[in-house]
Amino acid sequence: KIRVRFAPSPTGPLHIGGVRTALFNYLFAKKHGGVFILRIEDTDRNRYVEGAEQYIIDALNWCGIPYDEGPGNDGDYGPYRQSERKHLYKKYAQELIDKGKAYYAFDTAEKLDQHRKNHEAKGKTFIYNWHNRLKLDNSLSLLPEEVQKRLDAGEDYVIRFLTPPDETLYLKDTIRGAIEIDTNTLDDKVLFKSDGMPTYHLANIVDDHLMEISHVIRGEEWLPSLALHQQLYHAFGWDAPEFAHLPLILKPTGNGKLSKRDGEKGGFPIFPLQWNASVGYREAGYFSEAVMNFLALLGWNPGTEQEIFSLNELVKAFSLDRVNKSGARFDPDKTVWYNHQYLQRKTNKELTFLFMPFLKEHINLGLDCARPDHVQRVVTLIKERASFVSDFWELSEYFFVAPASYNEKAVKKQWKVGTPDVLDRLALFLKTLDDFSSENLENLTKQWITEQELSFGKVMPPLRLVIVGDMKGPHLFDIMGLIGKEESIGRIQSAIA
Ligand code: GLU
Repeated sequence: KIRVRFAPSPTGPLHIGGVRTALFNYLFAKKHGGVFILRIEDTDRNRYVEGAEQYIIDALNWCGIPYDEGPGNDGDYGPYRQSERKHLYKKYAQELIDKGKAYYAFDTAEKLDQHRKNHEAKGKTFIYNWHNRLKLDNSLSLLPEEVQKRLDAGEDYVIRFLTPPDETLYLKDTIRGAIEIDTNTLDDKVLFKSDGMPTYHLANIVDDHLMEISHVIRGEEWLPSLALHQQLYHAFGWDAPEFAHLPLILKPTGNGKLSKRDGEKGGFPIFPLQWNASVGYREAGYFSEAVMNFLALLGWNPGTEQEIFSLNELVKAFSLDRVNKSGARFDPDKTVWYNHQYLQRKTNKELTFLFMPFLKEHINLGLDCARPDHVQRVVTLIKERASFVSDFWELSEYFFVAPASYNEKAVKKQWKVGTPDVLDRLALFLKTLDDFSSENLENLTKQWITEQELSFGKVMPPLRLVIVGDMKGPHLFDIMGLIGKEESIGRIQSAIA
């Protein structure tokens, strides 16, 4: 049975890398009819951020990738919050001590710091392992009675993993293949602390085992932990899950890992935590489907040219074999492109609904020009120029209000001595029309221009200028047909007045 987990620590808003990890776990689970689990890794109370857990849940829901088991959605393997599993871990740490695979250490932070500095001064890295162990303050260098005395006295301790010297570990990663590690390069990592809390490493392995996780899919930053994790499974005598470490998401320059500080270049979170004023993808107007689509292609490729995938299509197409080893460069323009694509695929009705709150900031929704049917016609005309609903107002302002000014450059170019006279005559002619539909308007106006022996170049550009205020916009007769006869004539008249 395929069981995978997304195991974030609730330390702040979810960034794009974390969301991609969640997505790949989700896709893998759904593809294989498996279970997607959310586990909250909140053993480090110093880094705990209020509200961050609910935030993670809301974010997964916004993304459209809800979990099958997790907080508030209990399966048979709960609780799914490590702080509520606290009582479980000590016994596993003890088991390792009993098996001679772990030991107590009493070194103070200051002492360790001192050791580190001494090593650095000699140009060496301090590794807490066989080489230094006996010089340090731990149970491997103390008599058992002494250890017990210090424990009974309530001294602060940690439990460390006992890394064997001079061994080669053969690790396996689904994406990276075989990896060899010399155990002499490894630290005896801390598994448990005297405050009664396990570290990430112990809690993570114990929970993955108890929750019967079949595949661990996580970011490349956890690859250095794999050696310890595999040794832990071995020490417990448990079968290890399969591991797949996803490639880093790189800055647009390709130079280093994309980070929070890259802000609008992709580093911003999916949405802000309440107290966090910065924006996220949601606030920037991204559709969640677009975000899922571009994230899927950061580090995975379908092996075809296809770029647009619904979530269901992703589930079908996804496989770990096609996850790349090398870092995936984040491309902000491509994310905008994706949103543009998804915007075009929305119904006009839905886009109209989404546009209304923006419209409200600019005009009174009671106005006739803000009637939903009118707005929908406007949206139909301008959407192909937009990547975000927030672009709509700038692209469509002139459908709702007459231009307050005219583009100066365009005026210089298009406004000739005879222009007011031509537009005056045109207005008189437009007054005679009963049917102001775009099509009729176009036919009859063109006919009129010919009859008047005028050229299109004399009439159409200045006409656009007075209707729109600029030389931009969709087909002019569509615009006039939409704003109507009275408004069109009014704009011409006020321009030449
Ligand atoms: N709690 C870890 C994190 O914050 C989980 C890493 C893992 O998936 O093993 O990413």
